[in-house]
Amino acid sequence: MAPIAEHKFMYDLIVLGGGSGGLAAAKEAVNYGAKVAVFDFVSPSPQGTSWGLGGTCVNVGCIPKKLMHQAALLGEAIHESAAYGWQIDPETVKISWEALRTAVQNHVKSVNWVTRVELRTKKVEYINALGYFKDKHTIMGVMKTGQEKEFTAQHILIAVGGRPRYPNIPGALEYAITSDDIFSLEKPPGKTLVIGAGYIGLECAGFLNGLGFEATLMVRSIILRGFDHHMANSIADDMQKRGVKILFEAQATKIEKQKDGRLLVHYKNKDGQALTDTFDTVLIAVGRRPLTRELKPENIGLKLIPETDKVDAVNEESNVPNVYAVGDVLSGKPELTPVAIHAGRLLARRLFANSTEQMDYVNVATTVFSPLEYGCVGLSEDDAIIQYGEDRIEVYHAYYKPTEFFIPQKDVTNCYLKVIALREDDERVLGMHFLGPNAGEVIQGFAAAMKCNLTFPKLKSTVGIHPTVAEEFTRVSVTKRSGLDPKPQSCCS
Ligand code: FAD
Ligand code: NDP
Repeated sequence: MAPIAEHKFMYDLIVLGGGSGGLAAAKEAVNYGAKVAVFDFVSPSPQGTSWGLGGTCVNVGCIPKKLMHQAALLGEAIHESAAYGWQIDPETVKISWEALRTAVQNHVKSVNWVTRVELRTKKVEYINALGYFKDKHTIMGVMKTGQEKEFTAQHILIAVGGRPRYPNIPGALEYAITSDDIFSLEKPPGKTLVIGAGYIGLECAGFLNGLGFEATLMVRSIILRGFDHHMANSIADDMQKRGVKILFEAQATKIEKQKDGRLLVHYKNKDGQALTDTFDTVLIAVGRRPLTRELKPENIGLKLIPETDKVDAVNEESNVPNVYAVGDVLSGKPELTPVAIHAGRLLARRLFANSTEQMDYVNVATTVFSPLEYGCVGLSEDDAIIQYGEDRIEVYHAYYKPTEFFIPQKDVTNCYLKVIALREDDERVLGMHFLGPNAGEVIQGFAAAMKCNLTFPKLKSTVGIHPTVAEEFTRVSVTKRSGLDPKPQSCCS
């Protein structure tokens, strides 16, 4: 352990934001003897929703989302179980939104509690206040009472994350909800319009439909910008087959509340035609904005990217020498929990344990928890072509039939995977894409293999585990270039 430099400040490190990145950095820093305070404050959403310590992931992100996704998958499994001989009456199977919401919120509250206890045990000071910069070593904390207190530190870490953006249309702020509200919604959402076709839009429309609510997804341009476009279109196709209505190239123009409390949404379709529809709930998922302006960055000359307000940092170091940033506030980095955690830990080690290890943001795996999950790591086919040219890459692809789909005769048309490799040298794998059950679990191990410079011959020489869906990656052999049919081979040969 490196000795901590002498200084005149109250803390070695103040962390602004008690979410994934901030908490990871704080807990790691105390391991090396640093005196650390974490500020965490949640401003209520425009609909009045608020929550406890732990940040987006725990309260209004990954965790409640995954639990609702799981609830939807269980509903699907209950119906499938009849084909396996379980004697159920499909008519009686329905979700209790209240019971689901209560179970999810109870779990979230238990995590809030465990997080507080953990901070206390580790002697990280938790300050429930909204922090902003007075100067580069001084944070003003606005306490719940409105009283302001001054705190000083040698190092300051910005980990304040982001909150949902609202489109600039009449009625959006007043009547629509976002992912900040859906997981604790008092009433069942009913017929829901989801605006936005990124991760959050797809996941929410997917689980709402799976839970039995009528879900419509409004897509301004394309599905999942930045992802492999073939995979993204396959997700959309699968969701439509499951009953999600998708309005392509449509844009909401106004939301009005009717006398009966339902919401009348005015929108334009791709031909510019003005249309309306009525919904019980409108959920907006058009991206997130970082909470950096609230920090009064001008007081320390902190450089933000003008278009996004994200922190302009290199190796998590801002332009102000003792001020750092991790997580969703960083410009050009994936907005994902494990990314924030990893970067936070490594930064703490560099600050307090003489480490020189930097965060590697390349080849970070991710999964979209759409009803048929999509996991990927590395380059999309589109980006591989841009970076290397079509002649230098080989795309191996296959449709496959998950064993568990046979008996209930589930639709397999979108169960598909793709491996993108260089054609030259050792045929290094550049990207892996998997659409199918448990995609997150499948892709995680292959992400580790890619970190170890996986080559296509090594993938082919890997013995699969039968019968799993992950083994399909070891069986893939048809190249797109060959034009051969990538439809499923027989199950066991
Ligand atoms: P956050 O976790 O957002 O924490 C920031 C904290 O700082 C918050 O508690 C905030 O209230 C507080 N704060 C803000 N300003 C101040 C201030 N001035 N003073 C004091 N406190 C302040 N990622 C995944 O990897 N997998 C998923 O499945 C996944 N699902 C998601 C689903 C949804 C619906 C959403 C919204 C996000 C999801 N994410 C997922 C993304 C993930 O939640 C974020 O990338 C992650 O939480 C970012 O961590 P962070 O530390 O940067 O910020
Ligand atoms: P994204 O940036 O992923 O997607 C935003 C979507 O909203 C795009 O489809 C975009 O369309 C659309 N959009 C933007 N502005 C408007 C507008 N004015 N009107 C209509 N549509 C609009 O944001 P999300 O909110 O979905 O997610 C934020 C981040 O959270 C993600 O990037 C991800 O990193 C993280 N996350 C991760 C998850 C996971 O790991 N499973 C799950 C959920 C979130 P266009 O393409 O036309 O710009």
